[in-house]
Amino acid sequence: MTVRDLFMGTQGGTVSALLILLMLFLMLTMSVRLMMSRRKKAYFSLTFSLLLIAAQYTFIAVLGDGHGSRDGGADHYIVQGLQTVSFILTNVGLYQLYNTTKRKASLLMGLGVFGAFAIMALRHYAGTRMLANVSEAAAVQTNAFLNIWMDFYLYLLILICFYLITPAVGQTKKYQIALVVYFLTHSAHVLNEYLYEGTSAGLTFAEHFLPVVYFFMIFQFMFERMLELMQAVYHSSITDGLTGLFNRRYFTRRLQQYVQSGAAVSVIFTDIDNFKKLNDTQGHQRGDEALRHVASIVMEEADGIGIPGRFGGEEIVMLITEPGEDPAKVAEKVRARVEAEAGVTVSVGWSKYRKGISGDGLLKQADEAMYYSKKSGKNRVTGHRHIPALKRADAMND
Ligand code: GH3
Ligand code: MG
Ligand code: MG
Repeated sequence: MTVRDLFMGTQGGTVSALLILLMLFLMLTMSVRLMMSRRKKAYFSLTFSLLLIAAQYTFIAVLGDGHGSRDGGADHYIVQGLQTVSFILTNVGLYQLYNTTKRKASLLMGLGVFGAFAIMALRHYAGTRMLANVSEAAAVQTNAFLNIWMDFYLYLLILICFYLITPAVGQTKKYQIALVVYFLTHSAHVLNEYLYEGTSAGLTFAEHFLPVVYFFMIFQFMFERMLELMQAVYHSSITDGLTGLFNRRYFTRRLQQYVQSGAAVSVIFTDIDNFKKLNDTQGHQRGDEALRHVASIVMEEADGIGIPGRFGGEEIVMLITEPGEDPAKVAEKVRARVEAEAGVTVSVGWSKYRKGISGDGLLKQADEAMYYSKKSGKNRVTGHRHIPALKRADAMND
C-alpha cells in the first residue's frame, strides 16, 4: 500500500480525520495553556473552534465522511454550516493571537457566523419546500443546487480573511499559504461534489490529504506564536520599557554572576547632569527623549563588550565583561558622545574589579566615582582609584 492509497476511498477520510485529530489535540493543549495565561478572553474563540472542529472530525473518524453513500447530501448542509462556522472562529482565533479584539472585529465575526446560520436556515426552509413533490432523481440535483450557497459563502469568507486578517498577523506568508491550501481543499471538494459526484480519485485524495496539510500549517502558526509570546514575556521581564536597557534586577544579577566567578570586569556609572532642571524647564517629554538618547549611546558603546542597564531614574550603568577593554576609555567615549549628540551632559564614574570585592561593592565604587565627577564640576569622568584620598572618604560619607 502506498501513502497515496492511505488517503483514498472511505478509509482515506478516517486516516485524514485521525491525523487531524492528533494535531487538533496538540493545538488544544496550546490553546488551553494560552487561555490560562494573562489574556484569557483572547484565546477563547480559538479554543472553542478547535473543540468544534475536533467534534466534527471525531464524527468523521467514527462514522466516516459519508462520501461512500451520496444521497444527494440531504443533511450535508449541517456539516457544511459547522465547517463554515469553525473556519470563521479559527481565523478570528489566529487574528487574536496577534491583536486585542476590537469592537469592529467582533462585529464582523458575529456577522460571519450569523451569515452561516442564515444560509443554513434558508437552505432548510427552501429544501423542505422544493423537495416536497420532486422525484428521487430530481432531489439529488435540487440538493446539490441548494448546497452550492454555503460553498460559495465559504469562498467569500476565504477571500475576506485573505484581505482583512493577513495584514494583522505576524506570520503573513505562512498564514497566506495556509489560506491557499484551504482554498484548494474547498475547491477539490466543490469540484468532486458537483462535477464528479464524489467519484474522482484525484480529487478525493486532495479532499483527504490537503486538510492534513492545512491543519499542520495552523499548528505551526500557533507553535511559532507561542514561542514569540514566551520570548516577549521573558524580554519584558528583563528590560526597561522606556529605554530598552536591561533593568536593575537583571543587571545586578549578571554583575553578581561575573564578580562571583572572579572575572576581571569593570562597572561604569553614568548620571545625567541637571536633569531635574531639564524636566522643569522643557517638560518631562523632552526629558524622556534625552534619557532615551543617552541610553542608546550607552547601549551602542556596550555592544560586544558588556551589558548596559538602567539602574535608577536617570542613572545608566554598564558592566564591561571584555577583559581587554579599558573602562576609562569607554567611559570617556560615552561622556564625549553624550555631550556632542544628546543635548545634555553626563557625569561618569568607573571602577575595576579587585579580588575580594562584591558586586554591590563594585557598583558602589563606580557610584562614588560618579559622585566625585559631579562634585568637581560635572560632565567629566572619574575612576574610583583616582578619587583623592580625602575626597574619597568624603564621598563615602555623603
Ligand atoms: P545632578 O546634575 O546633580 O544629577 O542633578 P539632577 O537634577 O540630574 O539630579 P536629581 O537626582 O536631583 O534629579 C533627577 C531627576 O531625574 C528627578 C526626576 O524628575 C528625573 N527623572 C527620573 N526618572 C525620569 C524619567 O524616567 N523621565 C524623566 N523625564 N525624568 C526622570
Ligand atoms: Mg542627575
Ligand atoms: Mg540621579
